[in-house]
Amino acid sequence: MIVLNLICGTGHRFEAWFASAEAYEHQEALGLVACPHCQDTEVSRLPSAPHVRRAAPDAATHPDIAALTSRMLARIAAEAEDVGTRFPEEARRIHYHEADERSIRGQATIADTLELLGEGIAVLPLPSSGKKTTH
Ligand SMILES: [Zn+2]
Repeated sequence: MIVLNLICGTGHRFEAWFASAEAYEHQEALGLVACPHCQDTEVSRLPSAPHVRRAAPDAATHPDIAALTSRMLARIAAEAEDVGTRFPEEARRIHYHEADERSIRGQATIADTLELLGEGIAVLPLPSSGKKTTH
């Protein structure tokens, strides 16, 4: 059995069951298919509604934000010049155009970091790589 979406001459839409599409064609040709609303036998097939596939939420497509962030931070850290404990001083010099503008990394205390931020210097705290810089 198949279900067909039909429309009559006056615009009523209805569904009807047939053994097959051929059975419908045959019955329609003989005027046996009538609109249940107005008994109109001038019916025609409507294209069946496209099957809408509901996109299931797929966790696998969501990028791992934490992994991306740590990779990005690692790249920033790798490209930055390591100024070690001179970081707060160097960050200030760059900010006040006393030194070449570049990415730097190094150690700063929380107090230093807050001071720099207070001066409007963008400081990005990075997780320690665990490597000790020797100076
Ligand atoms: Zn009708």
